[in-house]
Amino acid sequence: MSKKRVNVLGSTGSVGDNTVSLLEFHSDKFEVGVLTAQSNVKKLVEQAIKLKAKHAVIGDESLYDELKSSLVGQDIEISAGRRALLDASSERADTTVCAISGFAGLEPVLKATERGGRIAIANKEPLVAAGSLVKSAAKKSGAVILPVDSEHNAVFQVLEQDNQSSIDFITLTASGGPFLKWSLEDIKQATPEQAVAHPNWAMGRKISVDSATLMNKGLEVIEAHVLFDLPDEKIKVVIHPQSTIHAFVSYSDGSVLSHLGAPDMRIPILHALSWPERLDTNAPKLDPTSLSQLDFEEVDLEKFPALGLARTALKEGVGKRIVLNAANEIAVSAFLNKQIGFMDIINVCSEQMEADVSAYAVETLDVIIALDNQTREKTKNYILEKHG
Ligand code: NDP
Ligand code: MG
Repeated sequence: MSKKRVNVLGSTGSVGDNTVSLLEFHSDKFEVGVLTAQSNVKKLVEQAIKLKAKHAVIGDESLYDELKSSLVGQDIEISAGRRALLDASSERADTTVCAISGFAGLEPVLKATERGGRIAIANKEPLVAAGSLVKSAAKKSGAVILPVDSEHNAVFQVLEQDNQSSIDFITLTASGGPFLKWSLEDIKQATPEQAVAHPNWAMGRKISVDSATLMNKGLEVIEAHVLFDLPDEKIKVVIHPQSTIHAFVSYSDGSVLSHLGAPDMRIPILHALSWPERLDTNAPKLDPTSLSQLDFEEVDLEKFPALGLARTALKEGVGKRIVLNAANEIAVSAFLNKQIGFMDIINVCSEQMEADVSAYAVETLDVIIALDNQTREKTKNYILEKHG
């Protein structure tokens, strides 16, 4: 059987790294086309050589010479810059793994989706801000979107496509992040180091902070709305600190189907890489006899208001989702740079959500990018004014 070609956009990140580990583990099944990074030349070079990639792309154009000299003598095409990244995103592949972080991944996701094939998508922000664009691109090209985010991959695995109308609701689980048991007073004092120390998952810094505020779960509610065509009230969230059950699908006949697995991103990534077949994993496997305790509790919306904010954005339409996503990206980065406190992330987002976006016809890429840019500028100015 011929090998399946895989492109990995954002291969040097946390999801990217896990994908690379699987591609190496199954090197007899997969060949690697494109690998991309933004600035981590060293890791990109290591991965490209190890996986015998066809093409290595660095987003930061100024790093072209460094990439070139590091790959001298290798039969690997190299390129640099945003344009090159977008061109490479449309290169032929059976599966493209979309693992860039943030809204910056939107255009690469769209390029890959317009080309077609399987789109294994971890990068949730493009779905939050421009879900219908991505879906209509898939419809046109025939691309199949496979969710990699663990909860959405879990829903995908247990969703009976033919029985969609019989779904009462789905439930996404949330670990609760590092501050689940902290008091609101202590959470207000949380530092970036404490926020990125996630109890169950090792992830990039942005999503780690989002997990600590629970904005991640809020974005995931919107992501589930986009992927599974369900309204807000049919997407529930429950705290489950062990992160063993990733989602539940509750059907009208009282049956509840769920997906369990070790909290390791290689499991959903491999599912998306091998779908509709299944391959052996190199991740730890869950021993059902080890499940002595599985806890569930309601989300405390006072301690974690981000979830409520995301639900408001979902109900108020695409414009507000773009605003929330952009404001959150800027606020998280300001928090990581110690410009604002932990709870300020949510205050900054709430403030931006007040914007009147009704004049934006958020149906085209240009308008979506314009609203995203404008929100970023406004958020930066607001932070400067308020926090100096
Ligand atoms: P990381 O920050 O670890 O990695 C991001 C990747 O994208 C890196 O390869 C980085 O390159 C590249 N990148 C960053 N900025 C840009 C840019 N402006 N243009 C092009 N490439 C860029 O992120 P994660 O792997 O944690 O997350 C990736 C996505 O997957 C996010 O959307 C996240 O929400 C989602 N996700 C992540 C999970 C996880 O376990 N980490 C779980 C579920 C979803 P470089 O290394 O050079 O900076
Ligand atoms: Mg998730």
